[in-house]
Amino acid sequence: MTEGEGIRVRFAPSPTGALHIGGARTALYNWLVARHSSGTFVLRIEDTDRERSTKENIEQIYDALRWLELDWDEGPYSQAERVDRHREEIKRLVDEGHAYFDEGAVRLRVPDEGSTTVHDVIRGEIVFEHQAIDDFVIARSDGSPLYNLAAAVDDRDMGITHVIRGADHISNTPRQLMILEALGSKAPVFAHLPLLHGTDGKKLSKRHGAASVQELRDQGYLPAAVRNYLALLGWGFDDSTEYFTTGELIRNFTLERVSKSPAVFDEQKLRWMNGRYLREMDAAELAELLERETGRSGLQPAVEVTQEKMQTTTDFWKLAGWLYERRPTDEKAWSKVMKDGAAENLARAREALANVEPFDQAGVEQALTALVDELDLKPGKLYQPIRVAITGSTVSPGIFESVALLGRDETLSRIDDALARAR
Ligand code: GLU
Repeated sequence: MTEGEGIRVRFAPSPTGALHIGGARTALYNWLVARHSSGTFVLRIEDTDRERSTKENIEQIYDALRWLELDWDEGPYSQAERVDRHREEIKRLVDEGHAYFDEGAVRLRVPDEGSTTVHDVIRGEIVFEHQAIDDFVIARSDGSPLYNLAAAVDDRDMGITHVIRGADHISNTPRQLMILEALGSKAPVFAHLPLLHGTDGKKLSKRHGAASVQELRDQGYLPAAVRNYLALLGWGFDDSTEYFTTGELIRNFTLERVSKSPAVFDEQKLRWMNGRYLREMDAAELAELLERETGRSGLQPAVEVTQEKMQTTTDFWKLAGWLYERRPTDEKAWSKVMKDGAAENLARAREALANVEPFDQAGVEQALTALVDELDLKPGKLYQPIRVAITGSTVSPGIFESVALLGRDETLSRIDDALARAR
């Protein structure tokens, strides 16, 4: 890639609904190229399909890009609003003999002989024989331009130097090159990004989990982790580094290091990476984020004991939600734990906890370990019944932290309810 100023890239989504993982990766790669080279990132909405290009669908794209923090420098341009420019160029192509009317529609003349070569930074040269390409339609009989014409004219008018988009567009590229040549314009550099597959090797789709940026947000991923993970879907700095801050991505990202083989979207790996980002946050910062998301306050103590186990912010509610509201008891956990004298042990724990002073983690720990010794029990025989009583399940942060966080009154009251049920 040519370094330095003057690089102009664009993200040109068709607003068909939520922004999907593939589109988000395309946007990110364009953004990284622009930021790496102090170039310009242009946003162009390809809204010529009037039925699908609703205000809501367009808003979803802005919303997803804003959440991903991929800021654009120019635009958003509307392709539909540029239709006069497209018509002007169609007319010029006809006037100059590069295109002709056919039953009202306009077709571009494709020579019978020769070939058009796409020079792709990622894939090398791709040769398209003209024999295999018919004179193709660039305007319908109502005069409206088709995608290849509109995209080529817009890329030219907007001074786009690098067209970076999904591999599914490769077959459009020779047509756009022919249009640009007929218009007397220079071709931009092309980079067709690798296809995305699921872990089963099939084309990425809904069944592989979260498919859109909005879903990722709702499932509790962090934008920085998503950027990091998406960057790795087709690009790598070396064979092993996986963790990149956004600054590092900007510094290191080049199209030359993008691979042509399909990349695999693995939501488990994204979860793992997101967990790493969550662990690296200050507990205070993470608590603030969760408080903003939920409108609650005072979450930091609970964040401190769950942060290590969280992979997404929604995990917080799975791990700590029982602190804020009673959860229905997991019946399987109940019958597994509340047997063989468990109720008697629980009653003894209640007594011990009633007298802990001050009621903090150290005090709770001291009282419960002393009781374990006294009753000569395996610790789990005492702690699991307490856990089921206060959380409704057998999974929670450490028992001493959990009891201390819940506080004496609520702990005793939940234990009393469990004891009443066990009798
Ligand atoms: N509008 C096209 C799409 O959403 C992209 C066109 C392009 O990048 O040239 O797939």
